[in-house]
Amino acid sequence: MNLLITGANRGLGYEIAAEALERGHAVVAGVRNPGEANQKLSALAAAHGERLAVAELDVTDEAGLSALASRMKREGRTLGAIVNNAAILTARNTHIEDLNMDDVARTFEINLYGPMRVVKHFLPLLTEKDGAVINISSEAGSITNAYPDDYPYAISKTALNMFSQQLLAYVKDRGIQVLSIHPGWMKTDMGGENAPTDPRSSARGIVDQIERRIVPESRFRFVDYFGKAMPI
Ligand code: NDP
Repeated sequence: MNLLITGANRGLGYEIAAEALERGHAVVAGVRNPGEANQKLSALAAAHGERLAVAELDVTDEAGLSALASRMKREGRTLGAIVNNAAILTARNTHIEDLNMDDVARTFEINLYGPMRVVKHFLPLLTEKDGAVINISSEAGSITNAYPDDYPYAISKTALNMFSQQLLAYVKDRGIQVLSIHPGWMKTDMGGENAPTDPRSSARGIVDQIERRIVPESRFRFVDYFGKAMPI
């Protein structure tokens, strides 16, 4: 299977790329700055050769996404999974009275409009058997669990879950699986040192779900990295 992964240079995105390559899949690693030396990705490229393609990909750059999708189409490349992983966390612990609306807009640009743009341009390439769109979400997006003072990030993930559900209704007849996955609180730049989950463990669970097409019992496709249904 060929996987397109956004934000693949560090954190969870990198670990999903590494895990998928180790299992024999091919990966298009979308990164904002492919020119910048990234020792981890270079090491992956050295170990896995042509199965790893590093591509310039900024989820806010629609023209760039369109150009990359067209190039892949011209080259006859197809996809088995689109993994919308790139995201930012802004303005945590900020009361509504103090909220800078630019932070809200910037967060939506990346966390919600980003995955929508990526799917808009890459869905036509998702033609391999048992295709999947995986939107990396967060328990912060659960309305049931809502806690105060986390407006931009949490609301962007709630909306992302709605996008997953709407997209599923559109593509399910083509046999495409759509999941919003909470990857756990992970030790990454975003999650910090105190997080209990190692991002590689989360990546393993996510790649398992892509490979085995684990479908949660709930019709609402929001699950954790083991495939267990999350509260909406
Ligand atoms: P990190 O902050 O460690 O990494 C974020 C990644 O997103 C980086 O590769 C970054 O690239 C990329 N990125 C940011 N903006 C853009 C953009 N405009 N275009 C393309 N790529 C971009 O995050 P994590 O690995 O921790 O998080 C991965 C996913 O998991 C996210 O969706 C996050 O919301 C979710 N999540 C994380 C949790 C955690 O505990 N860490 C908990 C729950 C959910 P660059 O290096 O160029 O900035």
